Amino acid sequence: MFRAITMPSRRTTPVGAPVAQILPLGPRPTPVEPLDPHVVGAAGLWIKRDDLSSPVYGGNKVRKLERFFARARAEGKTRLLTMGAAGSNQLVAMSRFAGPLGFSVRAVVVSQPRTARGEKNLRVALAHGLEPIACASWTLATGVLAAHGSPDTFIVPLGGSSVVGSLGFVDAAFELARQVASGAMPVPDEIVVPLGSGGTAAGLAVGLEEARLRTRVTAVAVAGPVPAVSMAVARLAWATARARGLDGASRVRAARRVRVTGAHLGAGYGHPSVEGTRATETAARLGLLLDDTYTAKAFACALAHARASREGVVLFWHTLSSRPLPDVGGALPARLDRLFL
Ligand SMILES: *Cc1c(COP(=O)(O)O)cnc(C)c1O
Repeated sequence: MFRAITMPSRRTTPVGAPVAQILPLGPRPTPVEPLDPHVVGAAGLWIKRDDLSSPVYGGNKVRKLERFFARARAEGKTRLLTMGAAGSNQLVAMSRFAGPLGFSVRAVVVSQPRTARGEKNLRVALAHGLEPIACASWTLATGVLAAHGSPDTFIVPLGGSSVVGSLGFVDAAFELARQVASGAMPVPDEIVVPLGSGGTAAGLAVGLEEARLRTRVTAVAVAGPVPAVSMAVARLAWATARARGLDGASRVRAARRVRVTGAHLGAGYGHPSVEGTRATETAARLGLLLDDTYTAKAFACALAHARASREGVVLFWHTLSSRPLPDVGGALPARLDRLFL
């Protein structure tokens, strides 16, 4: 097994730039653990603890940011510019890490449904120095972003999802393959992960293909329209596989490893779902914290799949930080509070 994962698929081009590609933000590997069958109601459900991906702020943005920060530094850029939903974890993660590393962060922040966690996220990001540019709609956001660029600015894409961000999850799949090879867990038949902008699912699919694990990726759409996000994640997987130097057939296989489901979307991005709320209660009994937007919906799917399969191994990939956020009180300025609908 281990030999198989150290011999990647056939390459057509060399990989990697001659600069430091990663600025490490936390210890690896993150643990894999079995979940108590009595609470889950099924055997064979495991968790990958990327909620612990950094000691100060965990979750899936960390593996992407390790790459973006390294790139920005190698290019000599000191200002980071991104865009995201007003209460997104991306804004918290970026502003939490950027300051100590010597970067400033500006972001085009876009309206979203009002949630307690979202409001808190924005307050925390502001406390860490985020410079917000309020924007009422996604249609305007890209133009506003472009207007704020400058020669010393490095742009981090929406959700950190681009080939560069996905490469962090290619590494994560290799990390998992090593855990499997060392006996820390059986080979999963399926990884269940939320699907936002797609970098997590796409990178995992490519890494699994390279590591020659049979594991598929079930990507639980948390935003619609489902055909559009399915297309986006497949394209990103394909492009990431190309950047890794995989041949045409391997690129297609990597893209096909991702199965998108829209079954847990409910009323759409940021709206809690009934099953998600029930899954959150189950998770709480396992000592796990979930959020309404992403992880509740993905965990609901993981529970359903584990219960439906007799012998399968399902790995829930935890993408939300479980590190406590600092207590920042006070009200948001009106122009930012208006972004929560
Ligand atoms: C951003 C985020 C996601 C979505 O990841 P993508 O790579 O954009 O698909 C999932 N879960 C959590 C908790 C997130 O913050």
